[in-house]
Amino acid sequence: MRIVLLAGGVGGARFTRGLLDHLVASGTAADVTVVANTGDDIWMNGLRLCPDLDTMMYTLGGGIHEEQGWGRADESRRVADELDAYGVGVAWFTLGDLDLATHIARTQLLREGNSLSAATARLCARWKPGVRLLPMSDEPVETHVRLAGSDQLMHFEEWWVRLRATVPAQEFVQSGVEDASPAPGVLDAIRDADVVVLPPSNPVVSIGTILGVPGIRDAVRETSGRVVGVSPIIGGAAVRGMAAACLTTIGVATSADAVAVHYGPRSRGGLLDAWLVDETDAVLVPGLAADGIPCRAVPLWLRDTASSARLAADALAMAERD
Ligand code: GDP
Ligand code: CA
Repeated sequence: MRIVLLAGGVGGARFTRGLLDHLVASGTAADVTVVANTGDDIWMNGLRLCPDLDTMMYTLGGGIHEEQGWGRADESRRVADELDAYGVGVAWFTLGDLDLATHIARTQLLREGNSLSAATARLCARWKPGVRLLPMSDEPVETHVRLAGSDQLMHFEEWWVRLRATVPAQEFVQSGVEDASPAPGVLDAIRDADVVVLPPSNPVVSIGTILGVPGIRDAVRETSGRVVGVSPIIGGAAVRGMAAACLTTIGVATSADAVAVHYGPRSRGGLLDAWLVDETDAVLVPGLAADGIPCRAVPLWLRDTASSARLAADALAMAERD
């Protein structure tokens, strides 16, 4: 079975880890490709950071800080303290020592002329994530935020991490996206997939950004495989974090059915063949079915490895249903 996921950071990575656990436990032979959002990528202290690629790599490779959901376990910040002493630290962003090594390695590989895909493959040779991890594009695409009442653009990471998304965003601008092309292998993987999963990642700045790379949305629409999505919204709230602020900006309500309708049914030019909502949102199932989106209500909380594996099994079962 060929499975492709379009994923952001924490939600996407936890779901993917559950999927791999489920595949092993059920003895299913599968080829899993993760197409990761790189719209959060940013230069910092001269280094190229790719937050979502790293969250995926650390989570699947066993190096993640579990409670936090991002960054390395057993992390320290001696280098960041030294940068602060020089007055060149970035106060609002955590750069741990172990994490810095990843950024240094990546930046070195890029400066030697490697593409981001090639650099990612090199980093994954160490972490062995058990999936083919592809950036959505080798060209830089950076999400910027136009703050309400301002003409200025701010990098998404600064809005998200420093401002905690408390200042309303008027608009998201994906710099570079028009000229970007999908990284090698991305379109073929989607077209040839048996199942494409939209995991519970941020629908606007993670999955939305990936779909914005020219060619990717069409590849999902046209794949011969089944496309199944998992709601990142439970009971009218983003489960963890501040995704509601992003949905508000693009005029989509923070609810499991509004996000599904935003992706749209494939039968009517959209992306979804099927959708999963949380069991507490079961009341939404008939309405979505009427809108052309077959839907099931199951537990959507990625609490631990067992619940994540069960959710992944439910997503695959949903994809197989006609
Ligand atoms: P980021 O790049 O780290 O922000 O991560 P993603 O884009 O992959 O996903 C973040 C989104 O995942 C959050 O905004 C939530 O809406 C969703 N999410 C996080 N934890 C869970 C969970 O346990 N269950 C579900 N269904 N969604 C979750
Ligand atoms: Ca992210």
